Amino acid sequence: MSRKIAEERIRILFAEAKKRPEKAERYLKLAEKIGMKTQVPIPSDLRKKYCSNCYTYLTQGENCRVRINSKKGHITYTCKECGSMKRHGYK
Ligand SMILES: [Zn+2]
Repeated sequence: MSRKIAEERIRILFAEAKKRPEKAERYLKLAEKIGMKTQVPIPSDLRKKYCSNCYTYLTQGENCRVRINSKKGHITYTCKECGSMKRHGYK
């Protein structure tokens, strides 16, 4: 599988997960699996959109809380489903 196709498939799975939250876990795990098998990392814009702990598709203001720490230059995403936090740098 080429890199381009793998990334395309990952994006399709994320789009499906967004549309069908009840199946998000399955889609997101599959997306991770494709990434691992093909050694294509999940694009950074998508990595922020799911919880790697409980595989929930995260929507800001709904099941995800976003905090910006401008001093340290990172954004903290908190999954409201399981409470796990993820930090992303933006500097
Ligand atoms: Zn979670």
